[in-house]
Amino acid sequence: MPIFDAGEAIAALTDLDHPTKVKARDWAATALDDPTLAERDVACRFWDEGWRRLAERGTMALLNDPAWGGSDVGVIEALLTFEGLGYGCRDAGLLFAVSTQVWTMQPIIERFGDDAQKARYLPDLCAGRTAAAFCITEADAGSDSFAMSTTATPHDDGGFVVTGSKAYITSAPRADVFVVFATSDPAIGRWGVTALLIDADTPGLTVGPNRPKMGLRTTPFADVTFDGCRVGPEAVLGSVGAGASIFSSAMESERAFVLAGQIGAMERQLDEAVAYSRRRQQFGQPIGDFQAVSHRLADMKLRHDNARLQLYRAAILDGQGRPSMEAAALAKIQASEAAVASSMDAVLINGARGYVTEFGVEADLRNVAGGVVYGGTSDVQRNIVAGLLGRATR
Ligand SMILES: Cc1cc2nc3c(=O)[nH]c(=O)nc-3n(C[C@H](O)[C@H](O)[C@H](O)COP(=O)(O)OP(=O)(O)OC[C@H]3O[C@@H](n4cnc5c(N)ncnc54)[C@H](O)[C@@H]3O)c2cc1C
Repeated sequence: MPIFDAGEAIAALTDLDHPTKVKARDWAATALDDPTLAERDVACRFWDEGWRRLAERGTMALLNDPAWGGSDVGVIEALLTFEGLGYGCRDAGLLFAVSTQVWTMQPIIERFGDDAQKARYLPDLCAGRTAAAFCITEADAGSDSFAMSTTATPHDDGGFVVTGSKAYITSAPRADVFVVFATSDPAIGRWGVTALLIDADTPGLTVGPNRPKMGLRTTPFADVTFDGCRVGPEAVLGSVGAGASIFSSAMESERAFVLAGQIGAMERQLDEAVAYSRRRQQFGQPIGDFQAVSHRLADMKLRHDNARLQLYRAAILDGQGRPSMEAAALAKIQASEAAVASSMDAVLINGARGYVTEFGVEADLRNVAGGVVYGGTSDVQRNIVAGLLGRATR
């Protein structure tokens, strides 16, 4: 991790046209402009070529140590890059798949993996040659994730036999490796949960069919079943029983930073809404001259700025090694809920044009709706904040 640079953080916070962001935005607007997006959105089809282009640009390498194939540019520069990509790239599903890999999967392997695991997985992940997926949610264990029923039964050789099923797993249909949370000692609850690195070709591992969803439809999404999967001791990430700590470390940053692309998309959405409100005439004047419309634009601006400020505040605390759990939870609430509210405003400003598919306005609303659910719902984030304030969370 590079030394934290306060000047860089202030520049990111105050300069909406930061060069790193603008470069990523302009690159994405051409390199990731896919004329088949609308068709793929209907068909729920991933864009492999887009993934390859992002990998070639070094996107998956941004946060990892050069020793493992990364470029380690630091959290602020990576956030600026994702903001720019989110502005320029309309395939939110592609960016979501890349974001979860960059912000969740690769950091936890680097942070908790041993050298053999890092050497085995990180160079290929950083180069975008392989993909990883995070498996904790189950059909009956969502927010209450440690109520999981997937088990990792210890084997004589120090390994485990994994049995159970995980649900709603981002990138599962194209993942080469899964980080799987399973109970290895049911008697001690969450402290008996172990995280395991399980290769996709492990006998007994089956990925279900792609599950169509409301938005982010181009991100592959499926359930994963483990039917007596045998893994050796080398599959254990961190140590036996460290699953809860690994999960909370992963969620602390993911819950906010994964939304950087979405915050970039909010800025593009606002620019487009301003442009449309200038050109659309009703009652003999641009609709932006109606106060009702212009105030909606002002609210969109306010939400975008608040989300951005909260996101970078969480990044600054994280970069300084200070506690960032509350800031990350607040940023996650703000960024995800602001995106839903502003996407609804964009639909309203565009009238029927905002509701039909061909203009892409409604796609933003569908794409951002998942943000209030994944990485812990808004209710769960409020529980975290209330808990840190010393108040009841139930
Ligand atoms: C786009 C997307 C991608 C995802 N990717 C992954 C992935 O890669 N890997 C993975 O493991 N999972 C993934 N998930 C699953 C996600 O983590 C869960 O959906 C989420 O944790 C919520 O669980 P649930 O859906 O079971 O809802 P539930 O937990 O059943 O919640 C239902 C409702 O009850 C509320 N609620 C529940 N408990 C409380 C409480 N204690 N206090 C207040 N309100 C409460 C919730 O806020 C919600 O409104 C993804 C989900 C989505 C939508």
